[in-house]
Amino acid sequence: MSIVLKAEGLTKEFKGFVAVNKVDLEVEKGTIHALIGPNGAGKTTFFNLLTKFLQPTAGRITYQERDITGMSPAGIAQLGMVRSFQISAVFSDLTVLENVRIALQRKRGESFDFWRSEKILSRFDDDAHGYIEDVGLGEFINHRAGELSYGRKRALEIATTLALDPGMLLLDEPMAGMAQQDVERISALIRRIAKNRTVLMVEHNLSVVADLSDRITVLARGEVLAEGDYAAISRSPAVIEAYIGT
Ligand code: ADP
Repeated sequence: MSIVLKAEGLTKEFKGFVAVNKVDLEVEKGTIHALIGPNGAGKTTFFNLLTKFLQPTAGRITYQERDITGMSPAGIAQLGMVRSFQISAVFSDLTVLENVRIALQRKRGESFDFWRSEKILSRFDDDAHGYIEDVGLGEFINHRAGELSYGRKRALEIATTLALDPGMLLLDEPMAGMAQQDVERISALIRRIAKNRTVLMVEHNLSVVADLSDRITVLARGEVLAEGDYAAISRSPAVIEAYIGT
């Protein structure tokens, strides 16, 4: 068993209120790990600590045995741990192809030049086509991102994230606001992505969690309430009570 991401005693206090309290988490390489819990459990805060959008009050985070506690989001992205599903990552006025080309260029550390874009960026087209096919957007390659359905926009976000070639993806509610057919498409995509990457996701849709996750950590009131596969946590009296009690 190889642990890729580890949190030890991770704690976040907001003016005396402890939102995340000494949380330990180990994410095994090559798995899909879900973080669930009732509203106010501390999932978003914990996720923001892991992706360095927030600094912890106490505790330690290691990624591939490297201490990343004091690192910036850009620093950890360079190590290969990338947070996805930020709509801001997609440029609405540009086509699917152009969006992925830009991500590929970013991966190489080059700055983007709109004026000379066509010539410079077309050299990324072979790779770009691959990622676009991977997320099922082949027939939309020349469509503008702003014209895509919500689910396809999210697929495009995944393509731009995959173009960064991450070893680990952190997905913040990947199914939020999605129609059922998009949920199925994105589920299949996450499963495919996870074949050679590690995925940690916060997700409210429990049937998606049951369907996709190898391991689940349940948070409640800032603490780990239970951990295991779906069968184990859905039998846990503490988990049932936490969900019913909200
Ligand atoms: P979840 O994502 O599980 O719904 P959150 O992490 O958003 O939970 O919130 C956990 C608790 O921390 C909540 O009680 C929330 O009100 C509190 N909290 C979150 N962010 C802040 C903040 N910036 N300042 C004060 N309290 C916060």
